[in-house]
Amino acid sequence: MNSPRRFNPETRIVRWNGEDAPREIEADLCVVGAGISGATTALEAAKLGQKVVIVDAFPALGGQAVNSIIGTFCGLYRNGTHGYRFTYGVVDDMLAALEAEDALHYRHGPMTTVVHYNEIALSRWVERSIDAAGITPVVGATLREVTRDGGRITALRFVTRYGDVTVRAQGFADCSGDAALVYRAGFECREPEEPVYGSQQAVVEGIGDGEVPSREELNARIGEKAADYGLMRRNGLMFYFPGKDVAVLNMTHVETPLEPIEASRMGILGKEQVDRGIELLRDEFPQVFGDLRVRSYGFPGIRQTRWIRGRHHITTDEVRAGHRYDDAIARTAWPIELHNTPEDFIWDVFDEDHVHYVPLGAMLPPEADNIVAVGRCIDGDPAALSSVRVMGPCMAMARAAANALDLAGSGSVRQIDIRALQERVADNLERCDSVAP
Ligand SMILES: Cc1cc2nc3c(=O)[nH]c(=O)nc-3n(C[C@H](O)[C@H](O)[C@H](O)COP(=O)(O)OP(=O)(O)OC[C@H]3O[C@@H](n4cnc5c(N)ncnc54)[C@H](O)[C@@H]3O)c2cc1C
Repeated sequence: MNSPRRFNPETRIVRWNGEDAPREIEADLCVVGAGISGATTALEAAKLGQKVVIVDAFPALGGQAVNSIIGTFCGLYRNGTHGYRFTYGVVDDMLAALEAEDALHYRHGPMTTVVHYNEIALSRWVERSIDAAGITPVVGATLREVTRDGGRITALRFVTRYGDVTVRAQGFADCSGDAALVYRAGFECREPEEPVYGSQQAVVEGIGDGEVPSREELNARIGEKAADYGLMRRNGLMFYFPGKDVAVLNMTHVETPLEPIEASRMGILGKEQVDRGIELLRDEFPQVFGDLRVRSYGFPGIRQTRWIRGRHHITTDEVRAGHRYDDAIARTAWPIELHNTPEDFIWDVFDEDHVHYVPLGAMLPPEADNIVAVGRCIDGDPAALSSVRVMGPCMAMARAAANALDLAGSGSVRQIDIRALQERVADNLERCDSVAP
């Protein structure tokens, strides 16, 4: 007979007193959004000695890079099979940590080098790094209210399941993807006139031993058969890890409305599209995909919804011309990748020598003193934005944002010495000596 275990039988009675006194936190920098843009902004700022709070509506850190299973870091390398890396900073630590865990794979394609990563390893790297840097995370926290004094944000109030939280800080980074902070602060934002589609991603397993179809073959077959299976999108990609029977599947399009009920419904429709895609692949490539099944679905992947109106609006012509702005702070060569129809997307690849830039002006709302936007909610026309919102340039913008707010201190980020900032991020503008293994 088991010996009786001791426990405390006492309980206490609690009752809500009708008040919601928020938990208050003070910091140098408050980062809203903990995707790749937010996580790297927070880590860059912590390296500069700042006290940082990072807040996200998801119950975990990592944003889409982790929770929507994006699967590949793009825009990080120059074009060509073995181009050099464009972006440095905390990304160096991240790549080294993932490599040490056998959790990434450099694919040297004919267009450029992209880096496939294991999203679980990335999620743990983000969490461990945030913790080790002494950054305060607040997850499951949605921005509700912004307090501002003219162009200066003074405090943000978030709603969480455990009660409200107020964060007061000197600087703020809008890394929300939807410009949630800039919008809620009452500054102007942009929405595209035609929708930009997102995708429901999934990790699939059960890939057989046979040869996997090439990208061209896969696209052609999906294009031929998609309508028969009720698939909206007419092409697709799979990111394989050599020697493993899993891949990240990207072959759906879903709308990503900024309306709560519609947005929730899209999450369900996206999974339905993945299921239909798996059926197609099983039927069409039985040798290699006959046993294909979903291991996990990501959260809906959102590309472009609402973004800031900045001091500078990046145009497609500037991207195509590789225009180097006076206030350039990041570079990439990723193609224009605009998912503007249900069936297909615009894919305009640049040549091997091409480089295009991100100006700080596209990250700054013109009337704000202490907010910098980072990532997929900076200012550009829809096609221009599609070429700078991938994760390589997001991490370069993060480094610039942390440094710009550090240089601004209690002053205005609009008045910093741009040369001083460019010196701090010089690697991300000039360095050209590091080629992927
Ligand atoms: C399907 C798909 C495939 C893609 N493929 C690639 C690829 O292969 N390689 C690549 O490099 N890029 C790819 N991209 C682009 C890239 O993933 C994103 O642009 C990038 O991850 C954006 O990062 P972010 O941190 O700016 O935004 P997000 O990762 O979206 O992070 C924003 C965070 O802000 C939080 N947030 C939003 N609103 C609020 C609020 N009101 N209060 C609190 N928190 C809030 C969200 O919960 C979220 O976690 C893809 C995108 C999609 C959708």
